[in-house]
Amino acid sequence: MNLLMTSRGGQAAHGALRDGLAWAPAWFVVGESAYACLGKLAIANAMGAAELCAGVFGRPLAPNDYSRRHPRELLWGEWMTQRKSESALIRQIRDGVLQSEPGRWASGLASDEAIRFCPTCLSLGFHHAACQIEALEKCPIHGDTLRSNCPQCGARTPRYALTHATFDAPFSCPSCGHWYGAAWGPTSTGNALSDIVVAETEYVSLTRWLTELSALSLTWPNQSNWSCSFSDVERERRISVFHALNHIRGSRTPASLLAPSRQIAVIGSLRSSAPLTFSQVNVREKHMVSLFRAFRRWLWNSLGLGGDASNRSYVTRWLEQHEDGAMLVSPPDEPPELSAYILWRQRFERARDVRAPKPLTSLRSRMASWPVDVIVTMETWVAYCAMSFLADYAVCVHWQSQIKTLDSPGPRNPRWMELLNEFRPKLNSANPPWPRHLNYAYESDSPGMAAQIWTFVCAGEGYDTWIHLASWLVAAIPTVATRLSRHFECTDREISAPPTSVEERNTASTTKLDRPQRLALLHPGPELDGHDGTFRAPEGPSIPLQNDLQAINAWLDTFRDHPAAATSYKRALEKIVNWAYVQRGKAMSSLDSSDFDAFEAFLLEPNPRALWIMGNGTDAQWAPFRGPLALSSIRTTMVTVRLFYEWLSSIQYATNCHEIRPYQTGPLALANPLIAGSVKQIRSEPIGSSAMAYLWQAIKNDGTPEGLRRELLISLCFYGTLSLPEAQALSGADLSIQPHETVLKVRRRLPDRQIVYVVPPLAEMLSHWVGLMAIQTSSDDLWTVEEAPANPTSEPLLGTGLVGIQQIARQAFRDAASLATAVSDAHTAEQLLHAGARRLANTFLQQVEDAGGNNWALFGKPYSIPSSTLAYLGPRGRLPAERLLKELARISHLWR
Ligand SMILES: [Zn+2]
Ligand SMILES: [Zn+2]
Repeated sequence: MNLLMTSRGGQAAHGALRDGLAWAPAWFVVGESAYACLGKLAIANAMGAAELCAGVFGRPLAPNDYSRRHPRELLWGEWMTQRKSESALIRQIRDGVLQSEPGRWASGLASDEAIRFCPTCLSLGFHHAACQIEALEKCPIHGDTLRSNCPQCGARTPRYALTHATFDAPFSCPSCGHWYGAAWGPTSTGNALSDIVVAETEYVSLTRWLTELSALSLTWPNQSNWSCSFSDVERERRISVFHALNHIRGSRTPASLLAPSRQIAVIGSLRSSAPLTFSQVNVREKHMVSLFRAFRRWLWNSLGLGGDASNRSYVTRWLEQHEDGAMLVSPPDEPPELSAYILWRQRFERARDVRAPKPLTSLRSRMASWPVDVIVTMETWVAYCAMSFLADYAVCVHWQSQIKTLDSPGPRNPRWMELLNEFRPKLNSANPPWPRHLNYAYESDSPGMAAQIWTFVCAGEGYDTWIHLASWLVAAIPTVATRLSRHFECTDREISAPPTSVEERNTASTTKLDRPQRLALLHPGPELDGHDGTFRAPEGPSIPLQNDLQAINAWLDTFRDHPAAATSYKRALEKIVNWAYVQRGKAMSSLDSSDFDAFEAFLLEPNPRALWIMGNGTDAQWAPFRGPLALSSIRTTMVTVRLFYEWLSSIQYATNCHEIRPYQTGPLALANPLIAGSVKQIRSEPIGSSAMAYLWQAIKNDGTPEGLRRELLISLCFYGTLSLPEAQALSGADLSIQPHETVLKVRRRLPDRQIVYVVPPLAEMLSHWVGLMAIQTSSDDLWTVEEAPANPTSEPLLGTGLVGIQQIARQAFRDAASLATAVSDAHTAEQLLHAGARRLANTFLQQVEDAGGNNWALFGKPYSIPSSTLAYLGPRGRLPAERLLKELARISHLWR
């Protein structure tokens, strides 16, 4: 007889057979697993698995069918009680299952796939059912890592079920016969573990926790579909389910004993209400769309994607061209946040009708109805949008890290194809309705209890990189959700209130100031001071600033050495702050693109005049305007506004700068009769797009050297931003054509403005020209080469004098004007006749500026910026190759 039993109550073992078996209650240890109990019976009675199953439970063995749950598993033991009368022995065994009531949550946490054990416990003869919980990594008594393979041969342990493999020799390896724990072998020295020790351990607290969980009215609809990792999905899911339940109700198990969690959780609340009527559903969905768009904008800017104009067109193109169901295969160099953003939008938004003049966002019904069975608050909806993005982001980060390991991504690489198949369901927005890595559970509404919903995102294998990249977003979710949804929550509670659009809500704010004030006298309340403005950057400012006015003053203070600039900037900001507070009732850090557009229009026509224009009021009160602004002043004001918001972005205070659209002064000015008359006087105003089209047509290369010279000259003025004399004075030595960097040196300019980066279309033309004319270009680095005395032998690049150049340019504009006249476009024809080289340069410079390009860095032209602020722009120097490519990419749509 094995000492396991005799050491605990030897005399009982000699008692009469009970139920045809030799056993005594004293053999069993409090808390030990059903497997340990049955193992002792098998040893004491010298029985195999089949006899044991028949003798104790009156049932046959079941085949090991590799199904998720073995028919004779020992974890829950529901099958054990199907006999009519339950004997004391069966009750004893059933004490050792993980959870005897149908294991609602336990079945998601523990598996019967392999026996897990603590080697030290087992060497003392003890085994606890909670070892089967895979999230428990270490034995709470000994701190040993729980094993599921043989210490001797490494073979996987058999299933945790009543089978031959587990019971022919309990707790020994079916492959090599090694005893997992010495106490179970022939050399046993008896069961040495005290009952008291077990009763106090985390093993017991874990089982108690499972019972507590079962008492909750917790609903978790798609727990079993949760995708957590890419290798052992099932195991990873069980671990994640544990951590998720741990969020809902803390298990008190120390984290040091647990497998690491690779997920994040966000808690939200449910809205208690009767079923919604049709019209209520409509209102609610409108609010959800508004909030989704607000969050989308916040996300776009916070991810830093707004700074690059090409990103927006890339996203739009993708969304328009790919209907539901297309897999997003992003190239290795694409930032994962961009692919995640696209994937995420595709999940939420219905394909847009691209023919509509202004496509509206509408939500896919499967997303709008999340979470289907209950109604969540608007705050929770925003949090859900954010969590969905995080889930897609996790996948994209993982995908990028995987394809970066390949030498050649592409269909020829079998590993690439393998990856593609692995990721296909995850990089696809069509099915399932929400990301596979996202899951949710909720506690049903019970009277007197706040109903809650938990959303989980599990990242599995790529967790570390992902959480490193996304931690700021995770941290920002609660504040963003609260801030964005604040306006909607009151109507959300009483959803029957008449619907109001976002626009109305914005202007109907009750916190407006009643009249404009000087900057120093402004005292906005907490609603307006921007301490939690919509576009406040999630990471917080790099210098200590609490609100928008502090930020304005800090910015103006950076110009203390340039008093003229500081005054001009202060006037511009005084206008927009007052407009925001009085007219809009919004904080500076909450203004969005529609506000900036409205402000620009307002500058043309400040209304009501009594409030905004000095001397128009009944008393001599201060007002920020002297009258409607001239075009040039509007431009200066908007440039100031943009500079200010760019600074806010650079110090990580707010991200509104991406909301400021290209200037609209041109079209606006023409629409306004007051201003239209003065347009002609402004010689430097840009040339309209139709006029430019005629010009390009007129100078289209006809293949002759003369034709090429003409095209080159106009291009030098336009893309090169040169004046005619500057273009004429160029020689071969002033041009350096390198594979990735072509530059011109304009010797007539100030030293730090001489180098002009040549954009690709002009570079192409120049290299064609020097090839054709056999001109020697400079092989030196023009950035550093000393000012050499003009080489008398160097020929002018264009091969003609200034008079010739002027004639060529004048002829080009005349040709273009006649093309316009030919199609009865008299207005454009007149514009062209009054145009010149300077206006060509200005047109391009403005296009670059509107695209967010850097005229100063590229062309040495601080367009629209007073020279007093050159200090702000910083010294001009050679751009690193990478930066140059980025700057060129940002404006590349201007010549495509
Ligand atoms: Zn142990
Ligand atoms: Zn073995």
